[in-house]
Amino acid sequence: MVNGMNEKEMIWDLTDMFSSPKDPAIDRKIEEIREKTKKFVEKYQGKINTDRFGAEEIKELLEELEEIAVEFDRVETFGYLSFSANMTIPENQQIYNKVKEVEAEISQKLTFVDLELGKKVYENKELIDDPILKEYKHYLEKLMRKVPHQLSEKEEQIIIEKDQNGIEAWSELQSQWLNTRKFEVEVEGVKKILSYGEANSLLNHPDRKTRESAYRAIYTGLGRDEIVYATALRSIVADWMKMVKRRKYKRPVDAALIANDIEYKTLENLMKTVEKNVGLYQRYLRIKAKLMGLEKLACWDIIAPLPNAPKEKISYQKSKELIIEAYESFDEEYASAVKEMFEKNHIDAEIRLGKRNGAFCSSWYGGKTSYILQSYGETLADVYILAHELGHTTHNYYAQRAQRYLNAHSGMIIAETASIFGELLMTELLLKKAKTKEEKQAILAHVLDEAGMAIFQVSARFWFETYMYEAIERGEYLDGETQTKYWTSGRDKVYGDAIEWFDEMRWEYAIKPHYYMPNFRYYNFPYVAAQLLVWGLYQIYKKKGKEFVPTLKAILSAGGSKSPEELVALAGFDLSKEEFWQLGMKQYEDFVSQLEELI
Ligand SMILES: [Zn+2]
Repeated sequence: MVNGMNEKEMIWDLTDMFSSPKDPAIDRKIEEIREKTKKFVEKYQGKINTDRFGAEEIKELLEELEEIAVEFDRVETFGYLSFSANMTIPENQQIYNKVKEVEAEISQKLTFVDLELGKKVYENKELIDDPILKEYKHYLEKLMRKVPHQLSEKEEQIIIEKDQNGIEAWSELQSQWLNTRKFEVEVEGVKKILSYGEANSLLNHPDRKTRESAYRAIYTGLGRDEIVYATALRSIVADWMKMVKRRKYKRPVDAALIANDIEYKTLENLMKTVEKNVGLYQRYLRIKAKLMGLEKLACWDIIAPLPNAPKEKISYQKSKELIIEAYESFDEEYASAVKEMFEKNHIDAEIRLGKRNGAFCSSWYGGKTSYILQSYGETLADVYILAHELGHTTHNYYAQRAQRYLNAHSGMIIAETASIFGELLMTELLLKKAKTKEEKQAILAHVLDEAGMAIFQVSARFWFETYMYEAIERGEYLDGETQTKYWTSGRDKVYGDAIEWFDEMRWEYAIKPHYYMPNFRYYNFPYVAAQLLVWGLYQIYKKKGKEFVPTLKAILSAGGSKSPEELVALAGFDLSKEEFWQLGMKQYEDFVSQLEELI
C-alpha cells in the first residue's frame, strides 16, 4: 500500500488501446493507416483547387481525413503514453520511435491538404457559409486566415532548410550551453556543484539562504556567457523581422494571433488591462513580504513558499476525494468525467524511475476518454496539479462527445478553461475546509503566486519581446547590454519597486528556452489570456451560481469549433473589451483581499 491506496490504483491501465507495446495489432493498425493515407493522397492531391471540387467534395475529404487521424490518434497516444510511463524500457522506446516516424511520414504526405484547401476557400469565400460544411466552418476559417501569409512551396522549403541550421541551431546552442554549465550553490549550508536543472529546482526551496545562493549562482553565470545568449537571441529576433516582412504580416505578433485564433484588439485590451493592474500584483507581493516577516521581498522570495506553511502530507486517496468533492460542488455530471478517470485507472500517479517529468493529460478521441500522468508527491502543489489535469479530462469529455475530431481540440487560450476552473473550485473547497489561519494563507499564497506568474511575470516577457522587435525596426543593435535594458524595463513595469533585485538578474530572460525556439514567437501572451479568461468566467459563476453551469458546459463542448471571442460571447461578454479582462483581475483582487484579512 502506498499513499493509502492499492499500488495498482496509482498505475494507469492502457489496455483499452492496445494490450502491450508488443501487441501485433499495433503494426496491423499502422499498415492500415499507411494504406488509407496512400489512397487519400492519390484521390485528392493536386485536385482540391479545381472547379469540380465543391462543398460536397470538401466534406467527404475532411471526413476521410478525420478517419485517418482518429485511427492514428490511438496508435500515437499509446506510443507516447507507454514511453512517458517508463522511458528506460526498450520496448517502450521502440514503440515511441516507430510512432514518431510514422507520424512524420504521414503528416508530410498530408501537408498538401491544409495548403490546397486553405487556398480553395480563400479564393471561394462563399464555401465558408455553405450549409453542407456547417460543422467545419471555423476549421476552414482558421485555414483561410493563414493563406495570405503563405509563400510558394519552394520558398517554404527553403525556410525550413535555413531554420535547421539557423534558429534551430541557435536554440540548440542555448539549451546545450545552459545545460552543461556548472553552478556552485550552498544548499542548506553545504557547498555543492550542480547542473542547471539541479540548481533551477532550488529556486523555490523553503530555505531562504539556499534560494538566494541558487539565484546568485545561476544568474551571475548567465552574464558571464553574455556573448552566447545575446548573439543567439539577436539573430533569432532579427530573422523573425525578416520573415514578418516576407510573409506580409502587419505586426510581429500577427502569426501568434492567427495561431491562437484571436484578434489584435483582444490582445491589445488584454495587455492594457494587465498594465493597469500591476499595482494589484505589487500589493500582493507587499502582503507576502509581511507574511514572510520581511521589509521587502527579494527576487528569490517571489515564488517561495510561506515559511509557516503547514507541512502536512496529503495522500493520493485524500487528494482524489477532495478533487471529486470540488468538482461535484459545481455539478454532478461535471464531476462524472473525473470519477471515471479513477474508476478506469486512467491516471498514472506513481513516482518511478524513468518516468517523464511533470504532468499532462492526454486525450484519446476514439475511446472518448483521457489519460493523466503525474508523479504524485503528496504536497498541496500536487493536489492542485491533479485537479488541473482532471480539468483537461473534463474538457475532453465534453468536446469529444460534442465535436468531430477536427474540432475536438482547442487552441491554447481555451484549452486551459476547465483546468484552471478546476483549480478555482479546489481553492474554494480547501479554503472552506482549512482550520487554521496558516493553512488559509498557504492556499491563497499558492494560488496568487501561480496566477501572479502567469498573468504578470509572463506579461513582462511579452513586453520584452515587443521592445526587441521595435528596436530592430529602429535599426538598433541588440547587444547583451541593450537586451538587458529591455528586459528590465518590461520587468520593472510589472514589479515597480515591490521587489529587491540584484544586478545580474537583468540576465533573467536568457534562460527562457521559448525565446530561442523556432516558430515560437510570442509564446507568452496565451498564458496571460488563458489565466485571466478563466478567472473572468469564474467571477461570472460566482455571480450567477448554478445558472452558469450550462454556459460552461457549452463552452467546453464547443472544443475548437469556435474562436475564443465567440466562446466568451456565450457567457454574455465581449472578449475584445477591457471590461471582460477586468473581471479576471477582480478575482485576483478578491483573493488578495482575503489574504490581507488574514495577516
Ligand atoms: Zn494545463
